[in-house]
Amino acid sequence: MSGNATKEQIDAVIKRVHSFGLRTHPIFGVRKTVIGIIGDDKTRVVENMSGMPGIEKIIPILQPYKFAGREVHPEDSIIEIDGVRIGGEEIVVMAGPCAVESREQLLATARKVRECGAKILRGGAYKPRTSPYSFQGLGEEALKILAEAREQTGLLVVTEVMDPRNVELVSKYADILQIGARNMQNFSLLTEAGRSGHPVMLKRGPSASINDFLLAAEYIILEGNNNVILCERGISTFETYTRNTLDISAVVAVKKESHLPIIVDPSHSTGKSFMVTPMALAAIAAGADGIIVEVHPDPDSALCDGPQALTFSMFEDLMRKAAALAPIINRRI
Ligand code: PEP
Ligand code: MN
Repeated sequence: MSGNATKEQIDAVIKRVHSFGLRTHPIFGVRKTVIGIIGDDKTRVVENMSGMPGIEKIIPILQPYKFAGREVHPEDSIIEIDGVRIGGEEIVVMAGPCAVESREQLLATARKVRECGAKILRGGAYKPRTSPYSFQGLGEEALKILAEAREQTGLLVVTEVMDPRNVELVSKYADILQIGARNMQNFSLLTEAGRSGHPVMLKRGPSASINDFLLAAEYIILEGNNNVILCERGISTFETYTRNTLDISAVVAVKKESHLPIIVDPSHSTGKSFMVTPMALAAIAAGADGIIVEVHPDPDSALCDGPQALTFSMFEDLMRKAAALAPIINRRI
């Protein structure tokens, strides 16, 4: 729609599209409104509608990810959750243990990461484990502990939801729903998370291309939920030294293709605590909008992912270095 289109003109266009049995997906930008038209056989509609007052132009969107792509939404999306802005000038740090193991473990970690400047607390309640005999997470008990940590520290909470049937429950406690790498193409979970309207952090699947990744985000956005944060967490390659291979170039590729914020997980991508800080800094230098890092009071006794967890003092060191780096690329921590 043109910059000075009235609300009545916008409503009339939406109504006309619906009369053809097609769906609309309006995007209300700062300067103008874009009305996405979804459905087959749009030619007829386009012919019928050109000339309607308020329409600037009708264009086909060539990118496969129609709403995650920049073509329809050229400006960066900033996702604001309770005053925390993801995708803006600030590089947002999410930190916490792999899994919530106990109230003491989580609260001590939450206080520490907050003191160091993290804005969002991570901690798994439902853990996707390769072996069914490994620790699976404390479930709702963990969600309650996360909510208490939020109350005590003011940190926002991000935690994984693995099952569409749990989306409602996890949304009750968490500020951001995490969709794990293994579930990136669990389309019913993506749709359910989209419908919840809750902000979603979508992790890249270990074998997913950038195209697959953005099309997965598209499933969430199509449900009317634009609050999607992407997370690069390493991909599977022939290399065995690291747990996965961190694809830093994904940050740059996603930034070119999409308006969505992208953060980096240097913990799961490397699997080794000594590599986490250098990779976090590399991610920030490449333009990531944030990082998500595993931190544990005593990594040696962690029930999950101990070898990649930072100790409190290692996390302090990471935050000091990140704060020094950020201004060089006109950002801040
Ligand atoms: C996690 O962040 O807790 C996790 C399991 O990561 P991923 O889904 O990237 O393996
Ligand atoms: Mn983990």
